Amino acid sequence: AAGPVRVERSVDSLCPYCGVGCQVTYHVAGGDIVGAKGRDGEANHQRLCVKGRFGFDYSRHPQRLTVPLIRKEGAPKEPLDPADPFTHFRPASWDEALDAAAAGLKRLPASALAGLGSAKGSNEEAYLFQKLVRTGFKSNNVDHCTRLCHASSVAALLEGIGSGAVTAPVAEVANAEVIVLIGANPSANHPVAASFIKNAVKGGAQLVILDPRGQALTRFASHHLKFNNGTDVALLNAMLHVIVAEELYDRDFVQARTTGFAELAQHLKSYAPEAMAPLCGIDAGTIRVVARLYARAASAMILWGMGVSQHSHGTDNSRCLIALALLCGHVGRPGSGLHPLRGQNNVQGASDAGLIPMMLPDYGRVGLDAVRQRFEAGWGVELDPDSGLTVVEMMDAAQAGIIRGLYVEGENPAMSDPDLAHARQALAGLEHLVVQDIFLTETAMLADVVLPASSFFEKTGSFTNTDRHIQMGRQVIDPPGEARSDLWIITEMGRRLGLPWTYDGPKAVFDEMCGLMGSLSGITWERLESEGGITTPAGKAILFGDVFPTGDGKARLVPASGLAPAENPDADYPFLLSTGRVLEHWHTGSMTRRSDVLDRLQGLPAVNVSPGDMARLGLAEGARVRLESRRGAVEAAAVADSRLSPGALFLPFCFTEAAANLLTNPALDPVAKIPELKVSAVRLLPCSE
Ligand code: SF4
Repeated sequence: AAGPVRVERSVDSLCPYCGVGCQVTYHVAGGDIVGAKGRDGEANHQRLCVKGRFGFDYSRHPQRLTVPLIRKEGAPKEPLDPADPFTHFRPASWDEALDAAAAGLKRLPASALAGLGSAKGSNEEAYLFQKLVRTGFKSNNVDHCTRLCHASSVAALLEGIGSGAVTAPVAEVANAEVIVLIGANPSANHPVAASFIKNAVKGGAQLVILDPRGQALTRFASHHLKFNNGTDVALLNAMLHVIVAEELYDRDFVQARTTGFAELAQHLKSYAPEAMAPLCGIDAGTIRVVARLYARAASAMILWGMGVSQHSHGTDNSRCLIALALLCGHVGRPGSGLHPLRGQNNVQGASDAGLIPMMLPDYGRVGLDAVRQRFEAGWGVELDPDSGLTVVEMMDAAQAGIIRGLYVEGENPAMSDPDLAHARQALAGLEHLVVQDIFLTETAMLADVVLPASSFFEKTGSFTNTDRHIQMGRQVIDPPGEARSDLWIITEMGRRLGLPWTYDGPKAVFDEMCGLMGSLSGITWERLESEGGITTPAGKAILFGDVFPTGDGKARLVPASGLAPAENPDADYPFLLSTGRVLEHWHTGSMTRRSDVLDRLQGLPAVNVSPGDMARLGLAEGARVRLESRRGAVEAAAVADSRLSPGALFLPFCFTEAAANLLTNPALDPVAKIPELKVSAVRLLPCSE
């Protein structure tokens, strides 16, 4: 019988999954990772969730891409078995694949090209990828999954307080008297952060949860406001109304630190709790109680997630949260702040590094001459002054034949975009699609050239967590077969696009970033190596105690008015579907569905249904049902969820067998261009045996 595994070496690195950014030590034997243990990182204090503890084995899954692939002449662009890519692709050498990948892009004009980078990659990869698109494609058509997660939060934060990142780390909940959690389910999506919230409640903090769906943390909450999905503005404006009408706001803070109070106060007059209660489904008395609790607290944190941001009025939702904090002076002090819980492990860093179409690194707008000229001088090329296309706009442009060539690094839009039938058709219709990934994802199946990349554990780079803490992710194991590091692949692609790049690794790229990005001032690769993690900017965990980084140093109170989702249930589509994640799986499932432990724990594509609806429709637990929206249909098992209200459904978007985004609505927030992934009208039909 096999004895215990003898650990040969251990490497300090990070968890590859969520934005909490837990520090991990990986144990290695025989060239494979055999164990993971939480380290004493600022964000995790040795804690790990099930994904961090057991979800590393995907890196050695037999379906890993180990050789570059080129589509066979005439092979149709259609779904295929990821275990057998050679029905539609043939293996190629790196030189042949890179030459083919670059040649297909070079044939097309700048206006027909776009790139999707990854929030799972390092800061250096994100920076280099956006630089490749901007200087190699000569276009700003570059974006990443922030467009599908917190784009609206970032837009509102930049507008309101001049900075798109959190003002205080999750750990500050320990110093908060009141914690407001809205549109977030940390127990599933940021589990270690959830453990800090539980600790804070045990230490005396009051937890207020505003959430239409219900969640595990509810039992720790003093108040749970289960409001109607999509009515955030009605509920939050009603709270703001109470705070202004009852003069609960912090007069000194509002006067000294903000502008726009008079306009906001005027706007809020029509949002009395009694007027908003029928819309948001929360009685006026409860709204008043919670508003008073937040306003009167000596310290208070607001944490939010996709339930706030993934709406056609996501920017308005975030504007309300920012106004709450500013009116009450709950920013810039211990235990107080605004914290959009960032989703992927490096979505903060990828955004900081400029992986967004309207902004260069450090959020300077491409349209501003002074900003652009600084990067033109640094990069030695002229840059396009026009903002590029966002994720969903790229798919629309591809469908219209405007975007004809796309380079996708580590993203899976054929699973993550709304209205997938449309997105998949757009991807399949491209003249040239290059996909760089570790598996033959649903997107890679439609590619012309597939470049086999490194998993998180097979490369070194810096990663910025939701707390703005930049941490070092270190290579633990070697890539399989001929797979290469993403940075090497991007560099080689850049060279073939005519860029004079000589980067010999992540340090060279990080050094260049430090020279161009003020947010990295004082941070060096050597410091990251020796200290393991440094908070940006300037080591400050809590920001804006004195001044906001706006033109006049003051924050801006912005009235918000978006009251209804773009699509509501009706007689034809009577259910309201919300999509999201589950504890065991990560985003489109390309990694966690190939993790043995995680997929054993949760491998069933299932839609959550309220017990009342299960009974009304005569559905037994696990019964097969068909979900149909105006855009598509999927089949899944129905499971009863007592937290759901009648008429509400929840379907995770990680299951390729029941791809939730076939159903979702591509309606966009007009400011941030984020789609309304949290509200779709659907019907639910029992499947005949
Ligand atoms: Fe990884 Fe997030 Fe879990 Fe920490 S909380 S172990 S970063 S998935």
